[in-house]
Amino acid sequence: MAEKMCPSCHKALTLREKGYPMGSAFLKADRVHVDIYECPDCHGIRLYATEGDMVKCPKCGTLHSAKEACAICAMNAALDEEGK
Ligand SMILES: [Zn+2]
Ligand SMILES: [Zn+2]
Repeated sequence: MAEKMCPSCHKALTLREKGYPMGSAFLKADRVHVDIYECPDCHGIRLYATEGDMVKCPKCGTLHSAKEACAICAMNAALDEEGK
């Protein structure tokens, strides 16, 4: 992965949080994961869509972070429980 640079200071950004889930599990399509970077100079925060570490759920085909369970399947399982 190429190093992320601060556009104003041209310093290499430090990774603060990887694969941070943005949005709600209920906004299926809008749920994205971002990497949060901070500039050591101006402390500006920049967000990038997470590269890698994404897996495709074999059941529903949703892309989600490899470090967490599929939110769509978890929600569907919960809804199935309620329907009984
Ligand atoms: Zn900066
Ligand atoms: Zn799924």
